Amino acid sequence: MDAARLAEQRSAHATVDLSVIVPMFDEEAVLPLFAARLRPVLDGLVADGLIATYEVLAVDDGSRDSTPVLLVKERRTWANLRVVRLRANAGHQAALSAGLARCRGDWVASLDADLQDPPEVLRDMLECATRDGVDVVYGIRTDRSTDSHFKRRTARAYYRLMRATVGNHVTSDAGDFRLISRATVDAVNSLPEHNRVLRLVIPALGFPSGEVGYRREARAAGQTHYPISRMIRLTVDSLTGFTIAPLRVATWAGLGGAVLTGLLFGYALLAYLSGRVVPGWTSTFVAVAGVGAVQLLCVGILGEYVGRLYTQMQGRPSYFVAHDSLDDDLGE
Ligand code: UDP
Ligand code: MG
Repeated sequence: MDAARLAEQRSAHATVDLSVIVPMFDEEAVLPLFAARLRPVLDGLVADGLIATYEVLAVDDGSRDSTPVLLVKERRTWANLRVVRLRANAGHQAALSAGLARCRGDWVASLDADLQDPPEVLRDMLECATRDGVDVVYGIRTDRSTDSHFKRRTARAYYRLMRATVGNHVTSDAGDFRLISRATVDAVNSLPEHNRVLRLVIPALGFPSGEVGYRREARAAGQTHYPISRMIRLTVDSLTGFTIAPLRVATWAGLGGAVLTGLLFGYALLAYLSGRVVPGWTSTFVAVAGVGAVQLLCVGILGEYVGRLYTQMQGRPSYFVAHDSLDDDLGE
């Protein structure tokens, strides 16, 4: 079946009231627990008439363990589970974007597979959205006591930096646990941006929003996939995607350097005139090393933006979909 016909059939296919996007990377340890906890919550929403239909869109982000096998197994008994498999590991944000591009829900929630975001909160989010008539409901981590000391400190530093550079519309402690309307999903999908950091992109769209507080739980099983290198990557993507403030570091460093050079020149001239010229190894060394470091930093910052422009220009998608179980259901 050609791509155009498939897309046509997919859009003609009935939409659902709620899509729940769950990015998964090597989550075999937590998957059975996750399904056992999420399913009663969603079936309960249907039973209580909050929604009539739903899909759980598991985005398998190129897992190398038995996650895909377990998902196929789970699907045999849970028809609402839809599995989108990416060809290779594309990262948490790209997996979320893949989910947003394919979900069919009028409302779309995203949550982590490790049960750190309690699925029960989805009910509060739906109620908040309908009661307050908002397009976006953020899950706010009111209690992070189960996170490690290091994680809490780095998270605080991240949100402080984002609020200072990107703007105050960034909600502190709002991760990727949220509910958004179809209008918001379509707005996000229409952005051409690569490496988008959704927790910054969505507030920037300016849709009316509400908040629901929740207690961040401990990971139910398995291990985190956010080592320090990925945290740094997320911070760099967040900054370069939203602000050119770091580029101004070069300007300010240059200005500061010029003032300092002026002062040093005056000092050198006085020293020369008074005949107190000393060998001066330390000052030369410090000046050369200092200027070199600032220059490298500025070139590095420039490089980050040039790199971003380059990947954007190539236009290559940030993920490749290998398989979508909906295509099987549609009888491809
Ligand atoms: N994840 C993903 N791709 C990755 C890394 C993580 O899809 O490359 C998923 C992971 O399976 C989980 C969510 O993103 O559902 C959050 O990851 P994790 O729990 O490891 O991060 P943490 O909560 O420790 O920040
Ligand atoms: Mg987690």
